[in-house]
Amino acid sequence: MGAVEMKVAKFGGTSLATAEQIKKVCDIILADSERRLVVVSAPGKRFKEDIKVTDLLINLAEKYMENGSAEDELKAVVERYAEIAQGLNLSEDIVRVVEEDLRQRLGALTDNKAKFMDLLKAAGEDNSAKVVAEYLCSIGKEAVYISPMDAGLLLSDEFGNARVLPQSYDNLAKLKNIEGIMIFPGFFGFSPNGDVVTFSRGGSDVTGSILASAVGASVYENFTDVDSVYVANPNIVKNPVGIPCITYREMRELSYAGFSVLHEETLEPVYRKGIPVNIRN
Ligand code: ASP
Repeated sequence: MGAVEMKVAKFGGTSLATAEQIKKVCDIILADSERRLVVVSAPGKRFKEDIKVTDLLINLAEKYMENGSAEDELKAVVERYAEIAQGLNLSEDIVRVVEEDLRQRLGALTDNKAKFMDLLKAAGEDNSAKVVAEYLCSIGKEAVYISPMDAGLLLSDEFGNARVLPQSYDNLAKLKNIEGIMIFPGFFGFSPNGDVVTFSRGGSDVTGSILASAVGASVYENFTDVDSVYVANPNIVKNPVGIPCITYREMRELSYAGFSVLHEETLEPVYRKGIPVNIRN
């Protein structure tokens, strides 16, 4: 039997920030039956002065390490998910699941600060993926949350700056056999010792690229909050010209030079397999 075409779609934090945004994300996923492997970030900013869930989690971890308790910081994270769950008409259970998950992470040892920090940071994407999968199921779609641990996304134990280990690709290729829409949390994986490890900030792009490469996706669609890669930063220069087509090498150079549209380590896994990357709003 010929290989089934599969697209990997990654959605950034702004697309996951509110229930309304998540509904739009789900409409995009459902509009194309080949969009079967979906990578999500943690909820980002709802408005300009808002705080990303990842930053709330960093505050939570820091406060907890300082004081041995951080109820207000914990509440701030839980409230973000509660607002989303309510907007999506999900039951209270999912909010309890998020709170339980956070409390369990806080129960881990804090002697290795970088390790503890990664465990907390990863909660943003992990719970985001659970919520999106739950929502898709609630509207009658076949969707499943995929745990990076079960899927075998193995990373080096460089906390906060992990690299993918080569055996991950064979492990993740098995995802092709799973039916329905798979929702995979971005940004983190596991060390061979079983510790949660994260990429550097913005690393959900890297997760998407690794998955696209592993399953031999027909395209890696990176949904972000800009329409295109531009010749200049659209937040600084008004109406810059968009770049319709760019090579991997040129894009990587631009990422190193500070073009933040893609994480600078995003392109290597897809480049190796020649998988096209489509940057979309
Ligand atoms: N949530 C993480 C961050 O804010 C990773 C990501 O969004 O790609 O850096």
